[in-house]
Amino acid sequence: MAELRFSALREVFNREPVTFETPSKIISEYFGADVFDLHKMEHYLSKEAYRVVKKAIEEGKSLNRQEAEQVAIGLKAWALERGATHFTHWFHPLTDGTAEKHDGFLEIGDKGHVVENFSGEVLVQSEPDASSFPSGGIRNTFEARGYTAWDVSSPVFIVGTTLCIPTIFVSYTGEALDYKAPLLKALSELDRAAVEVCKYFDKNITKVFGTLGIEQEYFLIDEALYYARPDIVLAERTLMGHQSPKDQQLADHYFGSIPERVMWFIKNFEFEAHKLGIPVRTRHNEVAPNQFECAPEFEEVNLAVDHNQLLMDIMKRVARKHKFRVLFHEKPFSGINGSGKHNNWSLATNTGVNLLSPGRNPKSNLQFITFLVNVIKAVNDNNELIRASVINESNSYRLGGNEAPPAIISIFLGTYLTNMLENIARKVTDKKMTPALKTELKLGIGKIPEILLDNTDRNRTSPFAFTGNRFEFRAVGSSANCSAAMIVLNAAIARQLKKFKEEVDVIIRKGRNKDEAIFQVLKKYIIESERVLFEGDGYSKEWHKEAQKRGLSNIASVPESISRYLTPNSKDVLIRTGVFTEKELESRVEVEYEKFTKKVQIEARVLGDLAINHIVPTAIRYMTSLLENVKGLKDVFNDLEFGRLAGARKEMIVTISDHISMIKKLVNDMVEERKKANIIEDSYKKAIAYEKHVKPYLDEIRAHIDKLELIVDNEIWPLPKYRELLFTR
Ligand code: ADP
Ligand code: MG
Repeated sequence: MAELRFSALREVFNREPVTFETPSKIISEYFGADVFDLHKMEHYLSKEAYRVVKKAIEEGKSLNRQEAEQVAIGLKAWALERGATHFTHWFHPLTDGTAEKHDGFLEIGDKGHVVENFSGEVLVQSEPDASSFPSGGIRNTFEARGYTAWDVSSPVFIVGTTLCIPTIFVSYTGEALDYKAPLLKALSELDRAAVEVCKYFDKNITKVFGTLGIEQEYFLIDEALYYARPDIVLAERTLMGHQSPKDQQLADHYFGSIPERVMWFIKNFEFEAHKLGIPVRTRHNEVAPNQFECAPEFEEVNLAVDHNQLLMDIMKRVARKHKFRVLFHEKPFSGINGSGKHNNWSLATNTGVNLLSPGRNPKSNLQFITFLVNVIKAVNDNNELIRASVINESNSYRLGGNEAPPAIISIFLGTYLTNMLENIARKVTDKKMTPALKTELKLGIGKIPEILLDNTDRNRTSPFAFTGNRFEFRAVGSSANCSAAMIVLNAAIARQLKKFKEEVDVIIRKGRNKDEAIFQVLKKYIIESERVLFEGDGYSKEWHKEAQKRGLSNIASVPESISRYLTPNSKDVLIRTGVFTEKELESRVEVEYEKFTKKVQIEARVLGDLAINHIVPTAIRYMTSLLENVKGLKDVFNDLEFGRLAGARKEMIVTISDHISMIKKLVNDMVEERKKANIIEDSYKKAIAYEKHVKPYLDEIRAHIDKLELIVDNEIWPLPKYRELLFTR
């Protein structure tokens, strides 16, 4: 057994970096080469077809058959020129991965010869069947088949020799079976609601879109070590392993120089990403050993999500070339930092304005404050829903851990804005504003920009932090499809902005002027949302107490947290906005419960197997050698000497034996609990049973194994240890 561990280590010691050359040193020369973007459309499409697609993209519409036929001609020409042989509809099922089913361009022509064909029909719509994806019961009750339809707003691209068409994935009766369909709906609701509010400030604003920059954290481990750890292969995280004596205490990895082999990997995936038009810009070492981060320049939300999904896929593929495995799991190693996916989010207008960036004059700053306060209010009112959108089995090991965003969703604003909002809350009243107050408020608001620049003390412990010109939502897990979080956030803000507009209009109708009405509603919102604003240390114990006093939710249970998707308040946000139907929402929650149960089940099985067939036999082997040693001592020494010499060894034998007995017992008990949970029909109750009665065994069993790891002869220990997984590359 231990041979695998040692041969893996030897392999790693002998690795050479895998180098490669880009076709040009200048990124702009190949950036987007594999994307059918507007520029290429202009070149390959007829004038008419180009105009139609451009309009569809701008208006978020889809194409009809005839229009699609026109586009397909140009697209095919481009794809064949770039060496594509197949095409696929590329979509985001509810698995957090992406899905593709390749079809050849190849067709048998009239005279029995082979031709390359690609029609408008298959461009806009396809029936991949794909009936094995999770649907939360939708497919059983309706139609077994699902179909995919082109999302024109996300450009077509080529990976290898396959033309990939980003699509939504829906059931035959129209229910969404993916993340993209509801995301597009949420974004279009947000657009509509935000434009209405913008009209108070600037009539030229006709479109508002969410912007998103996703920071992606990940771990790398060498391929050989990966294969020597069945828990990482099957569960993507270590289910056992004693902490390394040194890991991240000295913060010597964070922002350190990037190791050479890793650098080649990064350069290689950046190159692949750039060809696909993904604007990756930032790279650095993260806090934990062998942990890294990359981030692209922000883009429109839907595109940013597509690009992030594609980037993860690219990274996984390129890692193999470099004999690495990339781990996107939120907590691959216990006791050190986990990985997240910070969602830098803001709102931009067709006029080029960032609505969450302070402007240059009082008018644009009132617009800024309006959007800022509405975001705060939406996060306050939908606290539990927002948390539900990021929680899942793997992220639960990270959230609330002492380096990760806490389970309590609060907002950090910085002292300047906090004071400014307090000022508005204190000074504005229902009465008509005095000219003096008006001037004071305007002056205060007009001053924001220069002062905000100084306000750079960013609070790293906040799950939802304002960072000068955007919010940074840090609770999203590193393996997640950001859509789940973005659907909820954007829908909640859309709903909120709609309410805001209604409330302001009521006051205006009563005869107040617009600015006064806006101030009055803002004041109300600021007071109602006070509890969600928190400037202190989100990791501290005091905050947990304080948050409880404020009535902020802190649900420890994953299934219970997921169930908050279905509160009347959440339904108001997700169903009233038309983002989901009741059926769709319920089925999604069902999928989440099932995912949770299955993941715990897999981890429990893997740990049970490894405990019984890797660890226990190893411990017994070592124990046997100790027993032989004691017997030998007895043969050689007299009783008195033996008593003195064998004491420590006998103690070790007892300790090892006790751990073995406990491991055996706990694994048995865990299996029994699983059996009980497995017969529960209701998926919520089943998930709760897994969480309450199965999951705790994972830590208990592990504790005994980790103790054994410290005692048992290193020469026979079968699994690579933390110090090897984290420091060897
Ligand atoms: P840090 O680690 O300091 O938070 P990074 O440079 O790693 O910052 O990532 C910041 C991310 O925020 C980048 O993806 C950047 O493009 C993005 N970002 C900047 N401005 C906006 C904006 N207005 N809307 C959305 N994302 C933004
Ligand atoms: Mg960063």
